[in-house]
Amino acid sequence: MMHVQGNTIDFDTARLKLDQSTKSASTRRKLAKQGSQFETVQRQLLHNLQTTLEVGQVLSLFHKGLQELLQVDALEYKNNADPSPIQVGQPALHRCSYRISHAGNYLGELQFSRQQRFAENELLAIETLLGTLLFPLRNALMYREALRDALNDSLTGTSNRLALNQNLERDIRQSHRSQQPLSLLVLDIDHFKQVNDRYGHAYGDAALKAVANCVTESLRSVDGLYRLGGEEFVVLLNSTSLGAGRMVAERIRKSVENMQFELDGQPIPLTVSLGLATLRAEDNASSLINRGDQLMYDAKRQGRNRVCIEAAQ
Ligand code: GH3
Ligand code: MG
Ligand code: MG
Repeated sequence: MMHVQGNTIDFDTARLKLDQSTKSASTRRKLAKQGSQFETVQRQLLHNLQTTLEVGQVLSLFHKGLQELLQVDALEYKNNADPSPIQVGQPALHRCSYRISHAGNYLGELQFSRQQRFAENELLAIETLLGTLLFPLRNALMYREALRDALNDSLTGTSNRLALNQNLERDIRQSHRSQQPLSLLVLDIDHFKQVNDRYGHAYGDAALKAVANCVTESLRSVDGLYRLGGEEFVVLLNSTSLGAGRMVAERIRKSVENMQFELDGQPIPLTVSLGLATLRAEDNASSLINRGDQLMYDAKRQGRNRVCIEAAQ
């Protein structure tokens, strides 16, 4: 059976605890059992936790500091924004968990575990030390969010052009090294100006989001969708030849064509034109994107709602 001792820690409460820890006689006695070592660890943590803005490293440094005071086999951190928890060490049977918040803002949940039950003075030590973690953890989370914002398009939620530049350079190097094909799709919504003109910009925005969602749902999890600008997108298809890329492109084209998008109960047809290019030995990021773009314009010229593929070399 798993034993969980739980608690909720708000930063201000924790700081209060930190302040009171020097005032309350019983707390002083309990912490004094751990001697001046507690204060040393606390001081070191206050310093060390300021040396990084990476969430995993902040947690790992906290775990290391904590272990100088008491046996803690593992620390697990969960946050609503993350699909998988961050784990440091090997989880064990006895756990104590804390829901962390600062000024009413949820910062996540931390669980400590080990083989033996946590004693009261040990819980007190953990809770007091959490005061040193809260600001560094909050800063690291904010930094991570800022990085994500910088690489994401705020309207559609897809990755943006900056992310494309970074990832495409990396994928091209990887493709040349591994001799695996790399294909790229350029996608542009057909007659999108008419959508804006007819129904207004807000509706245009909603249509743009709907197309981005529809394309995302038609992709494999390894493929990446990037908004290049306006109503033009790029899909990066790693380890994908022209033949396999054609199937992905057709699937996307059909999904958008069949998408049920309505305004006031009126179905509004939306279609896309796509160009598909595959990496050549002499390519760099911009030459590959340019070829995909030219092919997308070929698809426009040939009547839209279609895929144009470069001739195999
Ligand atoms: P084509 O089939 O040749 O691509 O025709 P088009 O009308 O889609 O092409 P054009 O490039 O003339 O128009 C693109 C339009 O996309 C113009 C602009 O108003 C609209 N657009 C670009 N970005 C946004 C956006 O973020 N939101 C909205 N609502 N519209 C946008
Ligand atoms: Mg267009
Ligand atoms: Mg366009």
